[in-house]
Amino acid sequence: MSDVFLKLGQNPYARRMVKTLGLPLPMPQPLRRSHGPAAPNPLQGRTAVVGGAAHSSLAAPVARVMDASGARVQVAGSAALRERFANGSSLPEGAADARADALVFDASWLASVADLHAVYDFFHPLVGALGSSGRALVIGRPPDEADTAEEASVRAALDGFTRSLAREVGRRGATANLVFAHAGAEDRLAGVMRFLLSERSAFVTGQPFHVSARAAAGGDQEDAQALAGKVALVTGAARGIGAVTAERLAEEGARVLCLDRPEDAELAREVAERCGGSVLSVDVRDSGAPAQIASSLADEHGGVDIVVHNAGVTRDKTLARMARSAWEDAVEINLGAPVAITRELVARELVRDGGRVICLSSVAGLAGNMGQTNYAAAKAGVVGFVRGEAGALASKGITVNAVAPGFIETRLTDAMPVVVREVGRRLSSLGQGGQPRDVAEAISFLAAPASAGLTGQVMRVCGGAFVGA
Ligand code: NAD
Repeated sequence: MSDVFLKLGQNPYARRMVKTLGLPLPMPQPLRRSHGPAAPNPLQGRTAVVGGAAHSSLAAPVARVMDASGARVQVAGSAALRERFANGSSLPEGAADARADALVFDASWLASVADLHAVYDFFHPLVGALGSSGRALVIGRPPDEADTAEEASVRAALDGFTRSLAREVGRRGATANLVFAHAGAEDRLAGVMRFLLSERSAFVTGQPFHVSARAAAGGDQEDAQALAGKVALVTGAARGIGAVTAERLAEEGARVLCLDRPEDAELAREVAERCGGSVLSVDVRDSGAPAQIASSLADEHGGVDIVVHNAGVTRDKTLARMARSAWEDAVEINLGAPVAITRELVARELVRDGGRVICLSSVAGLAGNMGQTNYAAAKAGVVGFVRGEAGALASKGITVNAVAPGFIETRLTDAMPVVVREVGRRLSSLGQGGQPRDVAEAISFLAAPASAGLTGQVMRVCGGAFVGA
């Protein structure tokens, strides 16, 4: 279902007229999205302003990422900080009136409440210059590794700051995110920064990412053709997010096994044809499904590198009116199947070292939703599962993460009553729904070696719609 306000927003004359007349209409900014495979220079030809402190322990890794990003880098700060950059120039006078495509602040050195003012000093004059589909990125150290309670407080403060900044810049189609670099994971920062600075993260905003060395290191972390030679299983691949994900993984070089229910075999075959993959017709709810999937992967590919547990269903009803079968369907397909299939693949040692397990959760599971006690229980359960399994598989360099989509324009959202659909779209910081491609980008990033620093985490792809603590 097309979004009238988003279409109107694409027309600069209409935008200006709505602004001039002061009409109370939502005018979301169309998002700049990536097309084709991941590019190694996420900010090619764009302008990035970087701030921080020369003595910061992350000054060197941050400078390396920005130097290689393809951006014209302007450094807001001391001459000593500028010298950290091979390609950086000083921020010119009056830069606040110019346009910046990215604002990157290294806040990892903050130790006291007084230091926190540096965040204001960097962003306050520049935030107005952040262009449409711009990127604000804060880099910090995790509160639980702080030496003092005051230092922990300042590190945690970055979270509230970034979530709120995301709300302020969202109507421009811009995002704001926070990366906590854990000790020993400095060399894993680059992949996560590149993703968050790129157009691939168009619908990811207002959240913290923990980059750690928890999972054993996985080698080359470049973006180009990152999945060449890898085998990927995508469940629920016949349509929607699963179909786009299968194509996106294939675009990065993976051989994709497209799994869906037997009644959707024809649709799954069309997807497999488009991405040069193969089809597996299985109902993931069947008790024999894990063994059938494992045998198929063992026989045809000798194992698997990427497992995307995407198959999902909703069976909405308020709890008092919910049939037990609706409860069971939602819990067993959304949660029981990922748990049982992963258990079987791990027990038969089919997930190769450096592998990736990615489960689809939902913001409904994080925030709760009326009429979705079954679905939200299952999707919150998925979060618990990835946290637990991440620890179990870390020594093999296998990461386990969840992706939690918000309002994504699919047949699910097309079927909503018009008012509910409008509210769902406008509630996000970006003021619009996401596209299946946005979720597929998050999944393909988590499937790649560049995400080696992320495990046991939830990446929301919700445009900042998540309300609450
Ligand atoms: P969709 O209904 O378009 O696609 C789901 C696919 O899963 C279908 O092809 C379906 O046949 C398959 N499937 C369902 N039950 C199955 C089973 N028992 N065995 C094998 N395959 C089965 O849904 P979508 O919108 O693309 O959602 C994909 C995932 O993302 C789901 O897990 C969903 O819960 C999650 N999600 C979607 C949204 C959204 O806004 N669309 C929001 C949050 C989370």
